[in-house]
Amino acid sequence: MTRRLVIVGGGIAGLAAAWEASASRGVSVSVLDNGVPAPGGKLRTSPLAGLPTDEGADMFLARVPEALALVDELNLTDRLTAPAAGGAAIWLDGAAHPMPGGLVLGVPTDPAALRGSPLVEAADVEQVRAELSRVGAPVTKDRSVGSLIRERFGDRIADRLVQPLLGGINAGVLDRLSLAAVAPQLDRVARAGPSLAAGLAEDLAASRQAAAVAGTVAPPFYGLPGGMGELIATLRAQLTNRGVTLRDGVRARSVRTAGGRLAIDVESTGSGEPREVTADAVILAVPGAAAAALLRGGAGPAHPTAPGAVLLLDELRTASVAMVRLAVRPDRVTTPPGRSGLLVPHGSGFITVAISYASTKWAHLTTDGLVRLRVSVGHDGDPDSSRLPTDELVARVLGEARTLTGLDGPVEDCSVIRWPGAFPQYDVGHLERCDTLDATLADELPNVTLTGAAYRGIGVPGCIRQGRAAAADAVSG
Ligand SMILES: Cc1cc2nc3c(=O)[nH]c(=O)nc-3n(C[C@H](O)[C@H](O)[C@H](O)COP(=O)(O)OP(=O)(O)OC[C@H]3O[C@@H](n4cnc5c(N)ncnc54)[C@H](O)[C@@H]3O)c2cc1C
Repeated sequence: MTRRLVIVGGGIAGLAAAWEASASRGVSVSVLDNGVPAPGGKLRTSPLAGLPTDEGADMFLARVPEALALVDELNLTDRLTAPAAGGAAIWLDGAAHPMPGGLVLGVPTDPAALRGSPLVEAADVEQVRAELSRVGAPVTKDRSVGSLIRERFGDRIADRLVQPLLGGINAGVLDRLSLAAVAPQLDRVARAGPSLAAGLAEDLAASRQAAAVAGTVAPPFYGLPGGMGELIATLRAQLTNRGVTLRDGVRARSVRTAGGRLAIDVESTGSGEPREVTADAVILAVPGAAAAALLRGGAGPAHPTAPGAVLLLDELRTASVAMVRLAVRPDRVTTPPGRSGLLVPHGSGFITVAISYASTKWAHLTTDGLVRLRVSVGHDGDPDSSRLPTDELVARVLGEARTLTGLDGPVEDCSVIRWPGAFPQYDVGHLERCDTLDATLADELPNVTLTGAAYRGIGVPGCIRQGRAAAADAVSG
């Protein structure tokens, strides 16, 4: 008998789940998505001054293999493009300073490479040297990234190097972010031996050695000429070819048991479409708050379908950001060659957290000679900046860009994308909470599973990994 799998959420995690499930025989797969203005969740690309520019994610990490594997299965490998620019700069005391060499996620591994950088002082270099020969006990349980970095390297390295990089990727605050959940590489090294710097230096040496053997340095990141929207469009087209039903513009309201199966109540924009969808298994590939709403629905808010899971989901925090995209004539702005962007540490007095020099990074965004900047605003602890009225937000960003990039004169194009609650915040103990959540839901509502950025990795490859794993479980029953 055909097993019916319904996936709620057509972002990359939900679509990856559909891809995995649709490779199995005897399973019918549907994806419900309410994405506005388009499905694909945080992977959305739209024109900026006529060229396809990402609204959210614009690249994925190569080291976590699941994104490259999916790209290969979709026959997109030949389309991959690597960022042309490498390092970012960090803003300090009125100037942009290149990031020193030898950093892993902002953590220093080489005192010599730090020396002379205006971002650190002589005492910091000495502290790195001392950490390299540390004899204390390794880390044994989860803690905040900030507490570890401050203890080992001091506040300046935490605030000026690690926070802008690792905090920036997560729109988070180092002192709350879980080492195990947001920085598995740091966690592994910190648990393996007394010195973080020494362990990370070994990692760096191993990747240099691998590059020497291969005769080439593999790019750490990849993107696509059509932006991340190209990945979504290709995946959706091939899912349709495999017989997967993609129902767009459909909001799922609740999931509950009905007659020994599962039922999903939906709000549909199309007339005549069924209001209830039945399933043998359901994957909720939606943000945590949306999953909580679905599991609360059932018999009304007073009788949640899965009360324990809802309580745990309610504990998950998120941060909101806004992306302001600017297209500027090259004589009106300074983007140093080879530099991928500028990171602005918290507390510098700017609402800008980072500026990505999109046209320096991506060859496909240089064809008309305009400079394209993607300015990120807002982070955990600053809920207000990303919510400023559009006129005020744009005026603030343009004013700050004047200081940060020398922007002078009008821009050719500008757009604002709001991403409310888009960045899950993995607080200390997050992974254990996820294990408890999964077990609680399995008990309260069997055959319903949670997947996506809210849980075990916010990056595109991590979302693909989680989506596929959820589908493999759902298909095997
Ligand atoms: C500005 C920004 C920049 C980023 N940059 C990068 C980057 O460069 N590299 C990287 O690896 N990662 C990056 N990320 C993170 C990454 O893009 C996301 O974590 C990831 O795409 C999330 O995928 P997802 O499928 O889990 O969730 P989502 O993309 O949020 O997808 C969930 C989908 O579910 C739908 N949905 C929600 N509720 C319902 C409902 N009730 N019924 C039906 N549908 C529903 C939504 O409309 C959405 O389409 C970035 C994120 C942002 C916001």
